[in-house]
Amino acid sequence: MKALGTLRVFDVEHRRTFGWTGEQLPVVGQGTWRLEETDRGRAVEAVRAGMDAGMTLIDTAEMYGNGVAEELTGEAIRGRGPEVFLVSKVLPSNASYDGTLRACERSLKRLGVDRLDLYLLHWESQYPLRETMRAMETLVSRGLIRYIGVSNFDLDQVREAQQALQSNRLACDQVLFHLKDRGIERRLLPYCREQQIAIMGYSPFGHGDFPKHTTAGGLILEEIAQRHKKTARQAALNFLASRDVFVIPKSGDSEHAIENSGGMGWGLTEEEYAIIDHAFPVPDHDVPLGMI
Ligand code: NAP
Repeated sequence: MKALGTLRVFDVEHRRTFGWTGEQLPVVGQGTWRLEETDRGRAVEAVRAGMDAGMTLIDTAEMYGNGVAEELTGEAIRGRGPEVFLVSKVLPSNASYDGTLRACERSLKRLGVDRLDLYLLHWESQYPLRETMRAMETLVSRGLIRYIGVSNFDLDQVREAQQALQSNRLACDQVLFHLKDRGIERRLLPYCREQQIAIMGYSPFGHGDFPKHTTAGGLILEEIAQRHKKTARQAALNFLASRDVFVIPKSGDSEHAIENSGGMGWGLTEEEYAIIDHAFPVPDHDVPLGMI
């Protein structure tokens, strides 16, 4: 391995401010999609291990396992109290005014909590956005959710969501973001940064297509990671999070969850950063928002 400069380090802190909300949240959180495919006990244990390692930002959705992921999440966070920042999502097919209110109540019940920290519209719905956002505002006024967000919204849709809200600010857009899909860095991310809307990057490992062995400038991700006594996945999370994004890898395995928490709290050097950036570049033209 050639010598690498150590001049400037792209430090990724453990926690950072979640957009305009002022909340200090872990930069690396936990996803729960397909968590129900793991044995129940192991899945709950993995989420708890992740929380113990600092990943107290937890993302779920009514869609995941038809509510089973929310139940598992509820079991995992029981007794954990206010340290947890809980995110769930309403399905677009439920996103009418009344449908959103009812979906939220069902999610709260499955999760066993009185309030969600963040509630997202999962993706664009056939219902008018104003109607869904009005329901979201009702949920805030009733104390059932704290912050409102969207998911899989491109720049124009984010602007539309901002306009649809009457007395609340949009807190977050949750979007696909991994080494091989950095399209959001062109326009969406800079806009949200300027507007103090937090970006939460989902499927940071490409949903099972993790490019561990890709050659990058003569080095591979793993070799760069080893310089910091880290793994390739930790380096990938660190690189993505250094773009001012929260990342939410999913794991139903305690050891994996603990490994993932090691994506924060350290930094790549400028040269290492440049090598990864070169191997997995931001597209040179605007591309439609990726979605899984
Ligand atoms: P991901 O986090 O990119 O990858 C998950 C896969 O990586 C699983 O197979 C997991 O297996 C494996 N994995 C995780 N940590 C590992 C480790 N340290 N070593 C080896 N393998 C590891 O995929 P994702 O679940 O699609 O995305 C993350 C979360 O984002 C979801 O769970 C969900 O909460 C959210 N999401 C949101 C949307 C949306 O539309 N808003 C869409 C997709 C995802 P193990 O379980 O065996 O560790």
